[in-house]
Amino acid sequence: MNTSEIRSKEMLDRLRAEGHRITPQRLAVLRLLAESSEHPSVEDIYEAVRKTFPTTSLATVYKTISVLKQMGEVLEIEFSKDSNRYDGNRPHPHPHLICVRCKKIVDPDLASISHVTNELTSETGFKVIGYRLDVQGICPECQKKS
Ligand code: ZN
Ligand code: MN
Repeated sequence: MNTSEIRSKEMLDRLRAEGHRITPQRLAVLRLLAESSEHPSVEDIYEAVRKTFPTTSLATVYKTISVLKQMGEVLEIEFSKDSNRYDGNRPHPHPHLICVRCKKIVDPDLASISHVTNELTSETGFKVIGYRLDVQGICPECQKKS
């Protein structure tokens, strides 16, 4: 199994364990969240799922994401002006790079962030349970266009 198949299975097992009914549409939403590294919005997922299941409603997509979010199986990146975006393959807090031009969101592999959270704990005694770190910038592709 590759990593997105493993994530799909983890999410599926979790839904089943909590007694949720698995419909083909729900499964399609879950798979997209597990596979996509693009941090899709609800609208992106809705459009993609409707290609295979044309009768899928927006409410089904919202509901599935909301259930997974409550279980901690999907990370929500909330925005006040743009659509919220979702990360199903890395559900735990991690930094994001956000392109202000094309709205691309990238997961950098940043080892130093665990030093920051460890330092916070040793400095303050806080047990860190989450954080949000968004870095705004212009991606290499958008830089070439300007
Ligand atoms: Zn860009
Ligand atoms: Mn991410």
